[in-house]
Amino acid sequence: MSEKYILGIDVGATNIKAALVDFQGRPKHFQILLTEKERGPGHILKKLQELIVFYKEKLEKAELLQGIGLALPGSVNDTTGICAFGPNLRWKNVKVSQELKNRTGLPIKLINDANAACLGEYFFGSGRNCSNLICITIGTGIGSGFILDNKLLIGPSGAAGEAGHMVIVEDGPQCSCGRRGCLEALVSATAIVKRTREKINAGHPTLITEMIDGKHELLTTEIIAEAAAKKDELAINILQQTKEYLVTGLTNLVNLFNPEKIILGGGVIHAGDVLLKNLESEIKKSAFPTLREPLEVVPSLLGNKAGVIGAASLFFKKIKTIGG
Ligand SMILES: [Zn+2]
Repeated sequence: MSEKYILGIDVGATNIKAALVDFQGRPKHFQILLTEKERGPGHILKKLQELIVFYKEKLEKAELLQGIGLALPGSVNDTTGICAFGPNLRWKNVKVSQELKNRTGLPIKLINDANAACLGEYFFGSGRNCSNLICITIGTGIGSGFILDNKLLIGPSGAAGEAGHMVIVEDGPQCSCGRRGCLEALVSATAIVKRTREKINAGHPTLITEMIDGKHELLTTEIIAEAAAKKDELAINILQQTKEYLVTGLTNLVNLFNPEKIILGGGVIHAGDVLLKNLESEIKKSAFPTLREPLEVVPSLLGNKAGVIGAASLFFKKIKTIGG
């Protein structure tokens, strides 16, 4: 491999994803490791250092690795190189860039993980040729990134556009941010599983009990989707309600930003038809009339590689930002 590469790394609360990305946005040697966040920032930084060494060795010459694009789940400032707040990693004021630069000698660029996924889709995925888009990743939590008039919305705190923390249901379930009834507390995988578990505990009959052999820790959105596909009433109701919350949240975003595309990613988008069928037409039904066109709701093209590719693109794409 004699081409030049950027190492894209996407640190999540559960997994770290990494790949060498060429200047056309093509990932190579993609891999997923466990984050082990409970072992603290020092442990994660050491893991990142080891990853960098691993990828350098993959290359014919170490100097073909030109830099590290690092996506982190929280508020990051690329100028200071600090992750000021990463609630899902339990990080506060971690000096990421300096630390990694000292250890590896390579330039580091930081970005919020949802913004990284958004850039990946904008440059190389479902958002190509689109000037106004919103990228929503629904997994353990909800990530969201906004491209408005071809500029990435960053904001002075480095993490503008937290769509997951719009309140959808007043006095709804507790959210990790401290408020109640946020979109994340209603439609994330964590929220869907929690709501299902509560219904099962309250004695609602369902196929799910048998599918997980009574072991509640085995309950996932995939199992709920599988039960819904078998016409299980509880599973269908849960996903139908999730869809209503999602439609409300996404309609709010359409009314605010008039996007051409909403790109959906994350594990929950595999939860099947009950959740996703006609999502676009239902949003259009409730959106402000003049904002219904040209909206399209589409799945992510890059899947779990979007963040890695987007983080790497910081080195070879011209990125205009709003705020930051
Ligand atoms: Zn919240």
